[in-house]
Amino acid sequence: MKYKKVVLLPGDGIGPEVTREAVKVLIATGEKFRVRFAFTEELVGGASLDATGEPVTDTVISLAYNADAVFLGAVGGPQWDRVNKEKRPETGLLRLRKELGLYTNLRPVRVYLSLVHSSTLKPELIKNIDILVVRELTGGIYFGHPKGVEMRDGEECGIDTMTYKVSEVDRIARVAFDAARQRKNKVISVDKANVLAASQIWRRTVDYVARDYPDVNLEHMLVDNCAMQLIRNPVQFDVLLTDNMFGDILSDEAAMLSGSIGMLPSASLGRGTAMYEPVHGSAPDIAGQDVANPLAAILSVALMCRYSFGMNHAACLIENAVEAVLEKGFRTRDIHAPGTQLAGTCEMGDRIVEVMEQLTCEE
Ligand code: NAD
Repeated sequence: MKYKKVVLLPGDGIGPEVTREAVKVLIATGEKFRVRFAFTEELVGGASLDATGEPVTDTVISLAYNADAVFLGAVGGPQWDRVNKEKRPETGLLRLRKELGLYTNLRPVRVYLSLVHSSTLKPELIKNIDILVVRELTGGIYFGHPKGVEMRDGEECGIDTMTYKVSEVDRIARVAFDAARQRKNKVISVDKANVLAASQIWRRTVDYVARDYPDVNLEHMLVDNCAMQLIRNPVQFDVLLTDNMFGDILSDEAAMLSGSIGMLPSASLGRGTAMYEPVHGSAPDIAGQDVANPLAAILSVALMCRYSFGMNHAACLIENAVEAVLEKGFRTRDIHAPGTQLAGTCEMGDRIVEVMEQLTCEE
């Protein structure tokens, strides 16, 4: 029997609740595909800060580094809002991404047919949406220097710096073009090249990389226009290539096409161990109430099977189980509509496992 080491970092708010459901699904997958998972659960974010004084410890970084995959729930919450910037829960997540060299963040946005009416957009606009957001994750304004708050001309001034090196853009652009080749051969690259120098380097480098992919259609789009086009005509997008900050914002917008941010999974890939996490945050407003949607977390586990374990059939099985449960009419509160059956976080996880046991697999 195969054996995979998975580090679990549930984090804060709804993080532990959705992680629990993701683990249920991973265990069911293991049983079905004869793979054993060895889980190590550790603290991250506010939970780690309270227990150790650090938002992520060196021990956790080292465990993550040596694991086959990492699953993270979510970090942050209002109780840590006043903490020093370098100790904030989000800093733990940024450090993990940086230390694991996770420069690629994949965010597939898919609209399930049974959820077309959950979106705030018209059904005819959103059905058939299948977008892959390829977001650069370890560069740009979240990491650039100088950064901080200082006094200038007698008043406080906040400073952030957006930088991109050609090599950073080159490697993420290649991920996007390679992905497009497995899909519809179309990349839309987002920037603000009319204003930002970092975006000018971004655009020039993407153009340069595109020469190696003559079969892939490339279009550049300014980020403000992209925000509008995602709402106006979302089916025009196939692979959406973005820098760190634009991808953060646009993928939340894209999430709402699918009905709820609770539906969007992500995979962060790089030099070694990959990390999987739902796109949503710790949702302190609904934490501890058994109402959070665990599907983004569960779909992140599907991505783990696909990208870290090469278990594509297992990934498809999980994705099909999610679709089947939605078709049966079960919904968490965020996607609940008249005529559907309200389910809690835990029940939703149980339903997915139940359907997985009934579905056939080919491995
Ligand atoms: P959020 O994603 O936590 O919540 C935004 C809204 O979406 C809230 O109304 C919330 O209830 C809802 N929501 C989110 N996930 C849901 C789910 N699975 N099911 C149902 N509803 C869901 O974003 P926020 O409110 O801006 O941030 C809250 C905290 O999370 C902050 O501390 C922020 O820094 C942190 N955050 C963490 C991450 C991460 O860990 N990757 C990402 C974004 C925000």
